[in-house]
Amino acid sequence: MSDDHDLERRAFLLASLATAGASAALAANGGAALAQQTPQPASVGGSDFTGDVIDGRRVVRGLDVNDLEPGRHQLYFEGVQTVTGQHLYVSVTVVRGALPGKRILLTSGVHGDEMSSIRAVQLVVDQLDPAEMAGTVTAVFDISGPALDGMARRWPNTGRGVDLIDMNRVWPGDENAPEAPRRHAGLLFNRLLRPNADLAIDFHTVSTGMDGTAFHFADMTQPEVAEAAMLFPVDQIFADTEPYAGTLMNELVAVGIPALTPELGKPRVLDHAMIARFVEGTMNVLKHHRVVPGPIGRTGHDANVFVARHGAPIISTHGGLVELQVELREKVAVGQVVAVQYDAFGDRVAEYLSPVAGEIMARRTDATAEPGTPLMLILFDGDGPDEEEAFPE
Ligand SMILES: [Zn+2]
Repeated sequence: MSDDHDLERRAFLLASLATAGASAALAANGGAALAQQTPQPASVGGSDFTGDVIDGRRVVRGLDVNDLEPGRHQLYFEGVQTVTGQHLYVSVTVVRGALPGKRILLTSGVHGDEMSSIRAVQLVVDQLDPAEMAGTVTAVFDISGPALDGMARRWPNTGRGVDLIDMNRVWPGDENAPEAPRRHAGLLFNRLLRPNADLAIDFHTVSTGMDGTAFHFADMTQPEVAEAAMLFPVDQIFADTEPYAGTLMNELVAVGIPALTPELGKPRVLDHAMIARFVEGTMNVLKHHRVVPGPIGRTGHDANVFVARHGAPIISTHGGLVELQVELREKVAVGQVVAVQYDAFGDRVAEYLSPVAGEIMARRTDATAEPGTPLMLILFDGDGPDEEEAFPE
């Protein structure tokens, strides 16, 4: 028995050494290729096909779209493991054009209750014909699978009892983080998203309990971001992304990749009119960069877009039923009553006034509010309170 055991142990050690050597060799190759761009950990970037195939789709734990043949590819990206020891597999479609060109990244499903954003990306991908494309579109549909399973904004992480993790506050992630969602973000950011993007669009809607106009979060001081944002026929652009640390958009911009966050109205449903506007805008971006041929459609100029740098939140001070007095995109004046609130007896307990002159960007759809709940966000220009993170995008 002891001889057999020793043999097994020796075989295991040899196998481990061989694997370690192979990993080191792969890491060295990946590192050399990436050194020309930006300094990164040696294990980051490059294609790594696991050899697994799930439902006919190849599994990757790293992807360089340049390794794929021109054409349409459906892949699964191997994310973090779940408590069963299985991996989360993220659905990825790559459409690689016959000719070289810009690499555009389209992401959705960072929040699990934002369905119109996923559908918009699907509809863009459906329109693409690789034979007439110059460049590559990489589309990612379900970044936060556990949140999607629950039709919820946040990922229910079980590391220390249930924590609800907002995936759009943990980018760029960390492959060695002490919680799975942050590791998942790190794997995606290092091995799929960052290495394949010259320009990125991260699709969202507003949060459950709210509705919103067709708008973007976009840092309009970045020329390529501003250019892309204006190619969408949106109502509004919220041009201050600074308070939003850890968003995918901001962390991509931080590593030099122009990125913006479209917001497709209400969560949980497919809003077809809203989806159509953002599909048109995304196709405009692809056409502008000559990834696909064709004339530019309606843009922000056609939609008379309102661009402003500030968002004033109206936060409830009481609990009770809330009656909103304003509609989306309505212009409001300083001191205008925008909402009233009633307690359980029907007595009026609060009246909310706009602190600014601006335009309604998002408003609550749930009729109740606890103290501290955002009831609406008013987009405005000029001087105003220097807000913290005002709004769950
Ligand atoms: Zn979102």
